[in-house]
Amino acid sequence: MGFGRGSSAQPRGRVVLAISSVIGMALGIWSVAHYLGPSPAVAASTRGQYMCAETGKPFTLTITPGMTLPVRSPHSGKNTGYPAEFCYWTSDGNIRKEPVAVLLNSYLGKPGPTFCPDCARLVRARNPQPVPGHPPPTRQEYKHFEEE
Ligand SMILES: [Zn+2]
Repeated sequence: MGFGRGSSAQPRGRVVLAISSVIGMALGIWSVAHYLGPSPAVAASTRGQYMCAETGKPFTLTITPGMTLPVRSPHSGKNTGYPAEFCYWTSDGNIRKEPVAVLLNSYLGKPGPTFCPDCARLVRARNPQPVPGHPPPTRQEYKHFEEE
């Protein structure tokens, strides 16, 4: 009896050990997946580029349903964040490799059109994608056009 009990206890111990290592592996996989977070494609679709009106600095924000403007800016710590438009141009009329984030005057309650602080070209709401050879007017060109 005593001998039989001893021999059956040993495999049972191994089973317990095997189960705990499986749980350990599962927890390890879960924590890695948790750490990595959502895939880059998912992250890109829920994050937007914003501008802080107080500091003029850009930041990215995860968009959630029911979000209202202005959003909280990490730069000012206040609700001074507005969606950024992008300027795709250089001052000499070529397309930039990296677009510049621009804050529109209309969000700030300022009158008149918005010009890019980098190239001084017109930036509109939902600024269109760049078409080679057709840059938007600069501040100077725009004034000239209005005067005619
Ligand atoms: Zn520009």
